[in-house]
This record gives sequence, C-alpha cells and structure tokens, in this order.
Amino acid sequence: MLQLKTVKELKKAINYLQNSNSKLGFVPTMGALHSGHISLIERCKSENDTTVCSIFINPLQFNDKNDLIKYPKTIEKDIEMLVKSGVDILFLPDANEIYPENFKPVNFDFNGLDSVFEGNLRPGHFNGVANVLKRFFEIVEPYNVYFGQKDFQQTLIVKKLVEIMSLPLKINICEIKREENGLAMSSRNSRLSADDKANAGFLFQILVELKNDLATLDFNDALIKAKTKINNSNNANLEYLEIVNRNDLSSFKNEIKINESVILAAVNYCNVRLLDNILV
Ligand code: AMP
Repeated sequence: MLQLKTVKELKKAINYLQNSNSKLGFVPTMGALHSGHISLIERCKSENDTTVCSIFINPLQFNDKNDLIKYPKTIEKDIEMLVKSGVDILFLPDANEIYPENFKPVNFDFNGLDSVFEGNLRPGHFNGVANVLKRFFEIVEPYNVYFGQKDFQQTLIVKKLVEIMSLPLKINICEIKREENGLAMSSRNSRLSADDKANAGFLFQILVELKNDLATLDFNDALIKAKTKINNSNNANLEYLEIVNRNDLSSFKNEIKINESVILAAVNYCNVRLLDNILV
C-alpha cells in the first residue's frame, strides 16, 4: 500500500496505476477505522481496479472544537487494517495540503437540507463536509465513491453536492455495520466504556420495534412510544427521533409513506452521540 501525503504524489501515483479504461474507487474517512469502514473498502475493491482511501480529520466540519480535539486517532492500527484489506493508496494529507493559504470555502445552497437534524445541532457541519469532499473529488477524480448509510443525512448532502457541481462520479451507499447487540459501529464509540457499549444496543432495538409498530399503530402513537422508551433508558438523552421522507428529509403529516421513509435518531448516551437510522 502506498502512503502519500501530498496532492502531487497522489496524482502521480494515480496516473501511474490507472489507464483510460480502469476504474478508480475512493473511500474518504476520518480514521479511527472499524469494520464499518472496512466494509466500504471491501465493496470498493470488488468494484474498481484501484482503491484509494483517505484519512483526514477535517477541521471545517467541526463546529465544536472540543469534539475535534477529542476525535479518536489510531493511525498505526488504521494502517495495519488498510494493508490487510488490500487498499492500493492511502492518502494522508496535512491540513495545509487540503486548505492552502489561498483556499476560500464555498457557501453551498443545499435548499435547507443542511439546516435540519445534524445540521441544526451542528451549524456549518455540512458545509464543511461539502467543502472537503469537493477538494477530494477534484484531487482524486474517482469513478466510484463510497459512503455509509450510517450518516444518512450526509449521503443526501453528497448527492446534492455532486448534482450542484455536475461531477462525473458515481455515489455508492453501503449498509450500516453493527455490533452484535445492534449498536451502529462508529469511531466515537471508542469513548464508551465496555459496559456502556454492551448496553448501547437499546437504540437499535427501539428503532426496530418502532418500524414494526408502524404496521399496527398510528404513526404518532408509535413515535411517542419509542421516544418514551429512549427517555426512560439509563444515561440516554434524546436529541431527535423522527420519521421523514428519505429523499429530502421532509416531514409527514399524519401518514408515512412506506418505502419512501427513514427513521432518523440521535441520542446522547453517556456523553457520546449515537447516530442511527433505519429505512421503512
Ligand atoms: P468517518 O470516518 O466517520 O467520516 O466515516 C467514513 C465513512 O464510513 C462514512 O461514509 C461513514 O458513513 C462510513 N461509516 C461509518 N460508520 C459506518 C458503519 N457502522 N457502517 C457502514 N459505514 C460506516
């Protein structure tokens, strides 16, 4: 696996490895890798000739500087995992490589998609995500890019970004990898103690029950029941739990549309934010 730090080295290596017919797949990450990230890499490898993975903790997407400082860093273990999974190129840029002195962030218009749910709780977050991805897409010029459904709202933002910029690339969304207890894998879960992690499966269980309840209960009653369960769970503070249109995150009034909905949840559990979602 090539480990490259500069845009110049990366472009040179890509030119060397690729010919006009070969497909380049790209998996952007912030490191502290787990099996969820590796599932994206495996899919990327199976669908492309060259797989590029980036590890870059993007300061622009952290509205809370403490969260940025506390973000887990496990670079040596990450490199081991990436070598094992057969990645061709690891791109590990410094911040000044991605944001040179003359860099000016773009203010994207996502038509409100960036100001609800995660965007409401983390102002500026999605604009930061979009800016770093714009840079990466221009540098790597991938044919395929891979994202996790785990960050559902982010997948919609990326689709919009690609549409706004008319980029010639294909976005692939990969299913959520979970622990045995149902907890969606996340780099931030490493901040949970072993006991808290073992108990954190409650959120997924409540989401599955809510999805099942929608078949028999009134939509608002089912939602209230699930919210109450979360609020009654130990050490859990509900940030949001909503059932919305999976294409634009708009609300439903009284009845949800099956096959067009997603349940979105964020819960602060033992001071770690658990994000999860389930398609309905
Ligand atoms: P991150 O390093 O958190 O920026 O994540 C990099 C990519 O991995 C994003 O596209 C995430 O949605 C995806 N990802 C994170 N956790 C999971 C998971 N549990 N299952 C599948 N993909 C995931």
